[in-house]
Amino acid sequence: MKVLRTTSDMLHARWHCGMGAETSVGFVPTMGYLHDGHLALIQLARRRAAWVVVSLFVNPTQFGPNEDFAQYPRDEKRDLALCEEAGVDVVFIPTPSEIYAADASVSVVENQLSEGMCGSTRPGHFNGVCTVVAKLFQIVRPDFAVFGQKDAQQVAVIKRMVRDLFFSVEIVVGPIVREKDGLALSSRNVYLHKPEREQALGLYATLQEMQAQWEMDMRDAQSLTAWGRQYLVDHYPEVELEYLVICDPDSLLPCADVQAGTLIAIAARVGQTRLIDNILVGT
Ligand code: AMP
Repeated sequence: MKVLRTTSDMLHARWHCGMGAETSVGFVPTMGYLHDGHLALIQLARRRAAWVVVSLFVNPTQFGPNEDFAQYPRDEKRDLALCEEAGVDVVFIPTPSEIYAADASVSVVENQLSEGMCGSTRPGHFNGVCTVVAKLFQIVRPDFAVFGQKDAQQVAVIKRMVRDLFFSVEIVVGPIVREKDGLALSSRNVYLHKPEREQALGLYATLQEMQAQWEMDMRDAQSLTAWGRQYLVDHYPEVELEYLVICDPDSLLPCADVQAGTLIAIAARVGQTRLIDNILVGT
């Protein structure tokens, strides 16, 4: 396994590391502090590609001024051991200055899908995501890149960027990996104290209960959303809901009727920790 830290080394990896032009390259971008969710994406890439590249980069431009960039958990040594064990070929660990020139003046802005949901409380977040992913695609030049369904809005935004800017990268989406009790794995779960961890289960519980209501024929999105909000308040009073939306997973436009494959997405704060989760109904 090669560990590359400069953009120039990564750009030349196809030659230096034997990643020939004919070799298929699968790419898994991450912010590190790897967990089983990340490892499932790596395994997905491993099954499909001759070369697997993983990036570990806590991207400063996707964090707002009052967010957790400085505190975001990092453990490079452990991440490298996990990558080695998972059969990763190249780990790319750039510093911010490798990715952003001091006078960088070009960014990628997605103007539609980025507005609502997480975009409402995290202005600029998806500009940061699009910009770093575009840069990483240019540097790694993968045939496909794997993203997690956990970040459903990110998946929609990245697919739109790839479509609109004609990137020749296939976007592959891996399912959400959860703890046994249903909590979606996240690097931020380490922030949760024990009582908060209990309340955090409210996100997935609400999604599951909404799905159960849908199965019992509650198909009207407005009624189902109202039902879900009430369920969360009644059962998980410490969870501070940010949004609960029912929408099309590609356009992120609200749906009037809930059908199989419709996205239900939730974001909430438990104590200081912001958590997100979602389901695709009936899948
Ligand atoms: P992050 O390191 O949080 O930026 O995540 C890197 C990638 O892993 C993103 O594509 C995430 O959607 C994905 N990911 C994070 N958590 C999970 C999870 N629990 N299950 C599946 N994929 C995940």
